[in-house]
Amino acid sequence: MILDGKKEAALLREEIKKEVFFLKKKHNKIPSLAVILIGDFAPSQIYVRNKEKNSKEVGINSEIIKYPKNISEKEVLEKIEKLNNDNNTSGILVQLPLPAQINKEKIINAISPKKDVDGFNPINVGNLASGYKSIVPCTPLGCLYLIKKVEKNLQGKHAVVIGRSNLNGKPMAQLLLKENCTVTVVHSKTKDIKAECQRADILVVAVGIANLVKEDWVKKNSIVIDVGINKVGEKICGDVDFEQVKHKVKAITPVPGGVGPMTIACLLKNTLECFKVR
Ligand code: NAD
Repeated sequence: MILDGKKEAALLREEIKKEVFFLKKKHNKIPSLAVILIGDFAPSQIYVRNKEKNSKEVGINSEIIKYPKNISEKEVLEKIEKLNNDNNTSGILVQLPLPAQINKEKIINAISPKKDVDGFNPINVGNLASGYKSIVPCTPLGCLYLIKKVEKNLQGKHAVVIGRSNLNGKPMAQLLLKENCTVTVVHSKTKDIKAECQRADILVVAVGIANLVKEDWVKKNSIVIDVGINKVGEKICGDVDFEQVKHKVKAITPVPGGVGPMTIACLLKNTLECFKVR
């Protein structure tokens, strides 16, 4: 089974669109996402444009706040504070990476946990780790959504997550723990990654090394989720050698067209949830 992220993301956006429409009819209000974009880093510009396009498609208002790359940290913090107190703003996202003069940690801490649609604020991170209700980072949320398309009940499954970033690996592991999986996290310092992966019923790979995971790394009939996005020549590929692995497993995400589209759809979902809570 090839997990079609484009199709699943379109279905999720359709659900969100219906709910936004219903809420607008009932309360005469719509969710609004504020995106702060600093500098002219090309991939960030593309991501933000996609986020804006997708928001509009589902009826979520999108406000892009653009700053030059030499903007001061103070000015960005003041803007975040204003957005935190603005009743019309449901969610706030600061597009990463940030220029050197701006401290990422300070920015993430400044965003109200109630409007933190990326789920990076330590309050949300702590809530997720404690098993409480929290806003969950969009990419792992999208991965779990895809895994559950294959298997509803994950209890007792052995899940292996490759990568331990705050963005992907760590929240993914927390989500899988919450689903009662037995979770192993492996990373650049792990002694025998291949042996760990061979035991995985569910394998999530978030490293950033093209075609790292080969056929003999994966268990037969497992579920493989490839978060990686790598450019090899003119082609985009994931961290899993898709052509080798796809024959052996029960389900696998392609790159592109797997996890990527789910990430933005989950951002819209998080924005809607923040709006509903408010
Ligand atoms: P990161 O660089 O922050 O973390 C990479 C992790 O991989 C680290 O924890 C490191 O310990 C581990 N690692 C490095 N080399 C390794 C090795 N040889 N073996 C095992 N583990 C190793 O990266 P990130 O932000 O988590 O992103 C990972 C990948 O996911 C990148 O390719 C990124 O572009 C992609 N990504 C995709 C999406 C999406 O929507 N699909 C979203 C975010 C990131």
